[in-house]
Amino acid sequence: MAAPAASAPAYRQLLVDGQWRPSSTRAERAVIDPSDGSHIIEVADATTADAAAAAKSAADSFASGAWRRLTPAARAKVLWRVADLIEANAAALASLETRNGGKPWTAALGGEVPFAAECFRYYAGWCTKLEGRSKSISSVGTARMHSYTRLEPIGAVALIVPWNGPLVQASWKLAPALAAGCSCVLKPDEHTPLSALHLGALLLEAGVPPGVVNVIPGDGRVGAALVSSPDIAKVSFTGSTATGRKVLAECSNDLRKVTLELGGKSPLVVFADADIERAIDGASRAIFDNAGQVCVAGSRLYAEASVYERVLAGIAERAQKLRVGPASDPDTEMGPVISAAHLRNICAHVDSGRRQGARIVVGGAAFDRRSGFYMQPTVLADVQPTMQVVQEEIFGPVLAAQSFASFHEALQLANDTRYGLAGSVWTDDINKAHTFAEELRAGLVWINCHGVPDMAVPFGGYRQSGWGRENGYEGLLEYTEHKSVMAMLR
Ligand code: NAD
Repeated sequence: MAAPAASAPAYRQLLVDGQWRPSSTRAERAVIDPSDGSHIIEVADATTADAAAAAKSAADSFASGAWRRLTPAARAKVLWRVADLIEANAAALASLETRNGGKPWTAALGGEVPFAAECFRYYAGWCTKLEGRSKSISSVGTARMHSYTRLEPIGAVALIVPWNGPLVQASWKLAPALAAGCSCVLKPDEHTPLSALHLGALLLEAGVPPGVVNVIPGDGRVGAALVSSPDIAKVSFTGSTATGRKVLAECSNDLRKVTLELGGKSPLVVFADADIERAIDGASRAIFDNAGQVCVAGSRLYAEASVYERVLAGIAERAQKLRVGPASDPDTEMGPVISAAHLRNICAHVDSGRRQGARIVVGGAAFDRRSGFYMQPTVLADVQPTMQVVQEEIFGPVLAAQSFASFHEALQLANDTRYGLAGSVWTDDINKAHTFAEELRAGLVWINCHGVPDMAVPFGGYRQSGWGRENGYEGLLEYTEHKSVMAMLR
């Protein structure tokens, strides 16, 4: 199926308290197509006053009980309906991800959209399974006591997401928050508001009561206003480690609860006994999918010395063959990066690698195209652990590669980072694979694959990659408070 011509999306305003409205100052922000740099549309640009209004709307709807007091089965039905509506709107949503986020059409339609639907269906199933426990009490002697725990929704939550997977990131937060009974304010990134606004409309259509989901596109100031709003009980933030640190500092003022899904510099470790062709294919996808703008991108490659050059040559060959082009072209395998500024940033990283002595195997510069923001798939070899390209998240299609001589050295190199989001190990030796998985300091380890997502599997980082988890039952718990009740019986 060819990408539909992206038409102007129906939703260009803020969603606050169940109403579509302009920003308080009537400000608008131009939304850009990164494939050619053209303006797609102007979208209402929220202000800090809008953030306050959205937070209040969420807090009021939470207090009213309009959503949290529905039966769990009723909430489940609504979330299931959201999933159905996402599927019914698949082409429109995929077109927005393609046009606004630069996500290749086949990946948007075949990956992002079904995955977002699956997320709502997965958490629909959890609505009826949020359970406490009864407790056996010993402290009151022979008196009789009944004690139990409850999982309660935490309150009004601020959900702040980045631009690299706007629909899926929003779904990963909205679905568990709603399943738990929370009310929400979603703040999409200023670059990519369109699919979030469309999703807001689908949530209303599915029967989410007014005020339970508010959607306010805006920049970091709007995010900061939400984070500091007294109406917000919890912040769930996905973005860079630098911004995550600011969010945490703000939350610390009144000890607001916070989940942080931050940056990564994930290692991909290939032992000589692996299926090398599969490893080459996996490593190429791990760094070039979505032009490397993936938090778990396999951006550091460590290959055992005897297969190092073969692995590099294989990845370089794939890089040269990759069809890089406009995201809406169904033949495109790698689309643009999000903006001109981000492209410059990626190139600056590559230049630093070059200056510090890395060998450029393939790529190494932006494509010279008349319009759009395109980076060449790039492999930097023979890097050193102290280099910026090894330590800093580049968030582009740039791989930093190094060889290793032993299991111990591979592990040491893989763990030599301030991040700890994910990693993968490639080997046919089951003992080596699981020992490596145990010793790697990362929240998610893949064996003989990389970047496979699943709603059931918790996702989140060690160290400076974040706090807390998304997805799975663990992701649901992030939106709950645990209450203990103790009743003295006569
Ligand atoms: P960013 O931190 O610049 O922005 C993320 C979001 O935070 C945006 O909506 C932005 O408007 C908002 N924001 C900016 N300043 C803020 C502030 N002071 N207070 C509150 N909100 C603020 O990140 P980015 O560059 O847009 O996104 C890329 C980053 O996201 C990468 O580091 C990537 O690894 C990370 N990421 C992590 C995960 C994960 O699950 N761990 C997933 C996707 C992306």
